[in-house]
Order: sequence, then C-alpha cells, then structure tokens
Amino acid sequence: MLWGGTPFFEEGSTLEQEFLNACVSLQVTAKKHRTYWYCTGEDLYRHPFHYLSVQSEGNLVIPEFMDQSTGCGYRDQRIICRTGITQRHKVTVTTQLAQRLNRLEFVELSFPRSPRIYLITRRVKNLLTTEPLSGCQFIPCLDESKVYIESQKNIHHLCPQLESEAQYFQLRVTITTAHFPFGGAGIIRKQCPQCGTVQLAFLSKGVTFQRQDLADTDFQYYNGYRTDNIGEFHIDADITIVSARVQRLLIEHKIRGLFRYLTDPPIRHGVVEIR
Ligand SMILES: [Zn+2]
Repeated sequence: MLWGGTPFFEEGSTLEQEFLNACVSLQVTAKKHRTYWYCTGEDLYRHPFHYLSVQSEGNLVIPEFMDQSTGCGYRDQRIICRTGITQRHKVTVTTQLAQRLNRLEFVELSFPRSPRIYLITRRVKNLLTTEPLSGCQFIPCLDESKVYIESQKNIHHLCPQLESEAQYFQLRVTITTAHFPFGGAGIIRKQCPQCGTVQLAFLSKGVTFQRQDLADTDFQYYNGYRTDNIGEFHIDADITIVSARVQRLLIEHKIRGLFRYLTDPPIRHGVVEIR
C-alpha cells in the first residue's frame, strides 16, 4: 500500500517481495524503517494500554484560561518556551467549539500541548462515569453566553450548580506514568537552554515501556523519554495513555472524535508496546 509517499507492506507478503524485486531491477536501494504490528477486533483489547488519539481543535495560541506566569518563558527569535504553564480558569466553550463538540463529542485543544486539554460532551462524560475510572477528573466547562463570578471560573473551585448545568466537560488526566518509556538512542535537535525541555528529537527505536513503568490507572500521561546514549529528557508535550477498558468504551460507542493514531503508515489505534 502506498500512503503519504511511503510504501507500506505487511511484512513477508508477496506484495512486499514484488516491490523489493522491482527496486532491485531499477537499481534503487530500499530501506526498511520499522515493523508495526496490527490487531483486529477483540485482539485489540488484549493489549492493556492504548494511546489516546482524538481530533484537535483551535489555534496555536495560549488560551486565556491558562496562567503563563508559571511557565519557563525563555524566548528566542521564533518561539517562547511554554513549559510549566498551568491552568487558572475553567475552559469557556465558544459557539464554534460547541458546534465541533456536538459533532465529534471528544476533542483536544491544539494548544497547549502540556498540559493537554481534552473536552467532551455530557454524553461522553456519562459514559465514562458509569463505572469509576481512575487517573482522571471531570471539570464542567463555562458557557460563553453566561456571566460567572471569579470563584466559579477558578479551575480548583467545585461548583455543584455548574456541574449539573454544564453541557461540556474538560477531561483532565491527573496521573503520570511511573517512568518515561525507552526509545533506543536519542538525537536532540532543539532544546530550551533555560529549562532543558526538548522541542525536537529523534529516537532510534519505537517507544516501549516495561510493565512497571506504567501506572495501573485508566488514564495516565508521560512527557519524556529514556535513551541509552543521553539519559532521560523532557519533551514539551503530554502523551496520554488509556486502559483497554476506556479504549473499548470509546470505540464501541463510536465516539466520532477518535482520530487515527498515525497517518503514515496508516495506523488507526495505537497500542502501547510493553517489553
Ligand atoms: Zn524552557
């Protein structure tokens, strides 16, 4: 299969062999990059952990509900380091965002990437709270057309009235993995000189965890990698992992915001690899 300019084959298939033969006859060198496994149907849920991948929404600007004063703030010609920014207020859902949420039911904001802001409809919240799930918190969102007092806006303020009225909720992942996953050898291309957060790096291997690196929760996230040449490093994005139970709920209820994990090669659902 040709996808996004990269030929993608099932390993050992006749098609792969024909492609390699054609390369030889054209005197073109073919290099295999990586082998992915794939699972179908029930097989998918045998893997205990999955990457959460949903449609992203919004602009690359820091929303007003974030507090930028807690961030690193290092500035060069092109970018400002946002590591360490925190959420101050509850999310306000605009008309445009509400339309997207009504259609998709589950989205993440494009920015910031750490902390990652997930938004869901009340239906998805009800779905995810039929049985208690761990590692997450649901915070009611504010409605653009209403007026709130300062304490109601505060992210830490619990308000039963908002809880019962809200149509949309923020899903907050509250637990980190016990350790970063392993990615073989690493090459760092861009790093903040002030806080050391890595903005661009390459890893020689597919990312793998050891079972004890992962928490026994339904939601957790990580924001760094372990390597065998440069040790550990932090990245400027949170990557969310969910349990098979959550992945199954989202898939079986056909939540439209679920998005393919990778486009090249085409992988619909990303399974967390455990060594
Ligand atoms: Zn920084």
